[in-house]
This record gives sequence, structure tokens and C-alpha cells, in this order.
Amino acid sequence: MPSDPDVPADPDCILCGIVAGTIPSYKIYEDDHVLSFLDIGPLARGHVLLIPKAHYVTLDTMPDDLAADCARVLPSLARAVMTVSGRPDFNILQNNGAPAGQIVNHVHFHIIPRREGDSLGYRWPAGKLADDEARRLQQAFTGQLR
Ligand code: AMP
Ligand code: ZN
Repeated sequence: MPSDPDVPADPDCILCGIVAGTIPSYKIYEDDHVLSFLDIGPLARGHVLLIPKAHYVTLDTMPDDLAADCARVLPSLARAVMTVSGRPDFNILQNNGAPAGQIVNHVHFHIIPRREGDSLGYRWPAGKLADDEARRLQQAFTGQLR
């Protein structure tokens, strides 16, 4: 599937506005398919966002090629974030749906420099995966990915 099928911009979408240039942003990288710019509400100095230029709300709806266009940029973008922030540690966060923390409804990847004691908490109370449930889940996934 091509990277950018004919997906219209959403006139109500902030990130489509940034792509179009009608909403200002501090751009740091751009190619034909993706755009990166400073997060306006950063957790840390050097916190950036990477977005596909085409309007997709959640990752699962994106064409594989466009997701690959995003992924291709992530290592070099992460290295740039490390250099600029002076932090060797970072998270890539990508939220899908309100319960998952998505506020802006256009796919975006956060690249967030981290330090001990900063305010981002994401560890979960680890559950237990019983063998019978693991086997049922494994079975449920069978044939889901082609
Ligand atoms: P999320 O909770 O994953 O949807 O995060 C949305 C992110 O978009 C937040 O970190 C906001 O600070 C950021 N954001 C919202 N509007 C803008 C904007 N105009 N320019 C840059 N970042 C923005
Ligand atoms: Zn959009």
C-alpha cells in the first residue's frame, strides 16, 4: 500500500494545521511523509513529536508503509534528542485512544528525554500470566498477523 493514499486533512485537527502551516510549530525535521517538531507542553527539555503528515487518528489505521516512514526516522531523531537534551535515556510513547492517554487525535510519537525522578510515571502493577491463559492467548493470536 502506498505511504500516502489520498487522506484529507481534518480541518479541526491541530496537527493537520501544523502540517499545513496554518498553526505555528517549531519544526526540527521534515520529509515527504513525516514531520517532527517540539512538543509545546514538554515533559523535559528536548521533548519532540513525530507525526505522519497524513491524518490518521490511531496507529492501527495507518498504512504499513507510512508507519515504516515514521519508524525509519525514529533512531536518528532519538539520537538528536539525546544530543540536544544531554540525556542518554528516553521513552518513545505513542498513545491510541482516550483511555490510553491520547488527547490529540492525529497519530503522534513522543520522544521524551528521561531522568531519574522526573514526573512521568508509567510502570504498571505487574499481573501474572498463567500458563493456560498464555496458551489461550497465543491461540487467539493465531492467524491475526499476516
Ligand atoms: P497525547 O496525550 O499523546 O495526545 O499528547 C498530545 C501532545 O501534543 C501533548 O504532549 C501536547 O503538549 C502536544 N501538543 C498539543 N498541541 C500542540 C502544538 N500546537 N504544538 C506542539 N505540541 C502540541
Ligand atoms: Zn490531523
